[in-house]
Amino acid sequence: TARAEVDAWTGPATTSDGAPVTLLANVADPASAAAAAEGPVDGVGLFRTELAFLASTTEPSVEEQADLYAGVLGPFGTDRHVVTRTLDAGSDKPIAFATMPDEENPALGVRGYRLSFDKPDLLERQLDALKIAGERVGTHPWVMAPMIATADEAADFAAKARARGLKPGVMVEIPSAALLAHQLLEHVDFLSIGTNDLTQYTMAADRMATDLTHLTDPWQPAVLHLVAITAAAGRAVGKSVGVCGEAAADPQLACVLVGMGVTSLSMAAASVRAVGVQLGKVTTVQCEAAAEAALGAGDPQAARAAVREVLEG
Ligand code: PEP
Ligand code: MG
Repeated sequence: TARAEVDAWTGPATTSDGAPVTLLANVADPASAAAAAEGPVDGVGLFRTELAFLASTTEPSVEEQADLYAGVLGPFGTDRHVVTRTLDAGSDKPIAFATMPDEENPALGVRGYRLSFDKPDLLERQLDALKIAGERVGTHPWVMAPMIATADEAADFAAKARARGLKPGVMVEIPSAALLAHQLLEHVDFLSIGTNDLTQYTMAADRMATDLTHLTDPWQPAVLHLVAITAAAGRAVGKSVGVCGEAAADPQLACVLVGMGVTSLSMAAASVRAVGVQLGKVTTVQCEAAAEAALGAGDPQAARAAVREVLEG
């Protein structure tokens, strides 16, 4: 059965013609990292550090943070990489000691990387802790900033990360970042597309609004065009561009993303096998045709139908 096929999948992921695709897990803490490391994943594409801060009323010390980060890096050893995301506080992720109170529009306010404009030390302590964790585990940490809007922000973040020997990247979650992905790539080593927020900001539809789910759908062709622009920019300079939003866990959409030139997909560990199985059933040429079909569609429903036709014939 299909279920048995999925359960038996052991990786590594390739298309049926042998093109490799990096499949990564999204994790939140040492326990989820240890569980993910047992499975067929190439590493972690998104370690959401804010989840570890949610319970605290005060900022964890550098030592406490270093312990936590080492606990996440450790299970992946030296041969699989972990991408740690710096604190993404604000809006849908309120953190007691970091979130700006009383904003009119918190989704458009001082959140994510923007918190460091006024208070750079919180970000700097996080980077210090990650450097210590990397040294302890003997690995080279990748680190990325959320909610980056401009190339200048990417440059500033990259400088801070490189100063500590960390490999810098930024998330593409704001349309401005996708449109100017080639500029961001002048400063960072990789990009990671957060389709949850990229969809929210492209469609101007709150990701938490249950009555707007037809708009907060990553199959929206406008969102996919921004993903395609970002992937093409990475391909042009030979730098990796991943997707770490919910879109990566949809097996058919995963084929579309690969067809656009996305090099890695990061998702809940439980979704990895189904995506690996689907990729193994299609050729690179089919993925490229699926991408073209989705980009040419007028709405998510038409995009899904056109892609199913290309992939399943
Ligand atoms: C995203 O926005 O797609 C993402 C991966 O980050 P988060 O869901 O944590 O905002
Ligand atoms: Mg996000």
